[in-house]
Amino acid sequence: MTASPAARAPLSTHTDVRLAAGYIRRSDARKQGDNHSAEVQRAAITQLADQLGCVVTMWEQEEIKGRRIDRSGYQRILEAARKREIHVILVFSLSRWGRRPLERVQRGEDLDRLGVEVWSVQQGQDKPGFMRYGYAGMDEQAVRDLAANVRPARRRAAESGIHMGPTPQLGYRRHYPAWDGAGKRPPGALVVDEATAWIVRALYERYATGDESCRDLARWLASDPRVPAPRDAAAWADYHVRLILRSPLYKGCVSYDKRPQGHYAHAAPGDAMVGPGQQTALIEEGLWRRVQERMDLMGQRPTRARVRHAYLGAGLLVCAGCGAAMRPHVAGTVVGHKGSYLCRTSLRNGGCGEAGYRLDLAHEALLVELRRLRGAPWTTRGEERLRGGGVRAATAARLKQEIAAERAALRDQAEALAAMRGATKGGGIPNEAVRAFLALSETTEARIAGLEAQRALAERAGPPIEDLRALWAEVHRTDPRAAVEGLDYAGDPDDAAPVRRLLLKTVESAKLVERRPATHSRWLRVEVTWTEPVRLLLGARLLTLDPTPEPPVLPTPTELRTAAQRRWRERKHTDSE
Ligand SMILES: [Zn+2]
Repeated sequence: MTASPAARAPLSTHTDVRLAAGYIRRSDARKQGDNHSAEVQRAAITQLADQLGCVVTMWEQEEIKGRRIDRSGYQRILEAARKREIHVILVFSLSRWGRRPLERVQRGEDLDRLGVEVWSVQQGQDKPGFMRYGYAGMDEQAVRDLAANVRPARRRAAESGIHMGPTPQLGYRRHYPAWDGAGKRPPGALVVDEATAWIVRALYERYATGDESCRDLARWLASDPRVPAPRDAAAWADYHVRLILRSPLYKGCVSYDKRPQGHYAHAAPGDAMVGPGQQTALIEEGLWRRVQERMDLMGQRPTRARVRHAYLGAGLLVCAGCGAAMRPHVAGTVVGHKGSYLCRTSLRNGGCGEAGYRLDLAHEALLVELRRLRGAPWTTRGEERLRGGGVRAATAARLKQEIAAERAALRDQAEALAAMRGATKGGGIPNEAVRAFLALSETTEARIAGLEAQRALAERAGPPIEDLRALWAEVHRTDPRAAVEGLDYAGDPDDAAPVRRLLLKTVESAKLVERRPATHSRWLRVEVTWTEPVRLLLGARLLTLDPTPEPPVLPTPTELRTAAQRRWRERKHTDSE
């Protein structure tokens, strides 16, 4: 068998039984003509496994969840391959395995090294060499062509007044005209759904009077038994109301290309259009306009009774467990909730298991770190050290390495292309494969040109001393403690703006490293990665960093209880006097 039987030994006791992972991926039904169902893919893969004499020990399926694609199954298979728990990966089509040509080629090479084979029902084995490039390039081309055809067609339909988005839950339903079976099925038309249209009219009329906010109206929707439950959430919320009140659909218009969509064919920013639609209007133009005006007005000022928070750590705090961004999260329904930062992964699917922490404690911890930055006097010696600029040299060196790697890839591609051309003469390789492959080489060349430009910039430009000096002055000037003193979580976020600005300029990311006590923490410590300008200034010793302050001695739960009891006794004492 292989040269290293020891490495393969833990796989199974019978060396002739090979363990396989089956990988199923469904794509958006609109995008792919060969969009076979998960069951079809699974059956075909099982049959292929039989033919190859493999046992499928793991199945993974890639799902589209909302607008995101969960690729954790793909990652789990690669992990199993790395741990040598599987010998073979089975997919329905290679185009479903690895989405970008380069990703597929690189992944293929990694798996070759591990001795793991990739087989597809449609294309057979993914063998190293030029066919891998050829297929990868062809699939990429096919997806691009499809995207280029679909988008303009949808836009043309929208321009003729057909609503191309999802059917709204309230006000309209789709009516599909009879289809004679010839040509393409005609699109469904929106017709007024009287059972729910009254709700839309009521929302517009009530909002226009100015007495009720979107939140009030959402509360009404949630409590009125005549209103159906929302189909995408547990209860009606103010954002539902806002979407309904903002939709030009209800005044008889259609909109399209409001926001860029799709990976390959993006709508240009100016492409957004609103035009007359084919559906009957529910709201007359004047009322619709009044509602827009009131919404524009309301958008500019904070709604009543809503606590605005200063999210000093937003975009800076990352999860210590998985590295994802920490999201500020405030439970609007809990009175006096101080808010917390939660890991994005945990928010989405209970993923990484890292506990969140309190907003105010995290801010305090960030400020403790920020206060450690101290400005040393600006000296010519320091300025000279800055001009020496070690960081830029490191960037240039890194870019040089990346360029070398891309050049090597290009060389491989050129060799493969030469081999392909040879084979094409013999009639073996389809011409599209060669063309697709040429396109792939072109993108590699373009990437090299881009990297070269970056490298030239890194090598030529000296450090922007003026910018560094301005930042140095700002660190000198701003006293973070004074700036946020007396700013409790409910304070005006604008007061924290100078500190937030300074944080954004100085901190690249921060991560929790210590919490006391471990649960219901009352004190946190974060570790900060400084931005490049700060690192340069620290390197030139124009800024210095104070030592990390000692953690506070926190009273134990018993001490806290005793203190509370004492306060209670004292209060009782004064009351009885
Ligand atoms: Zn996490």
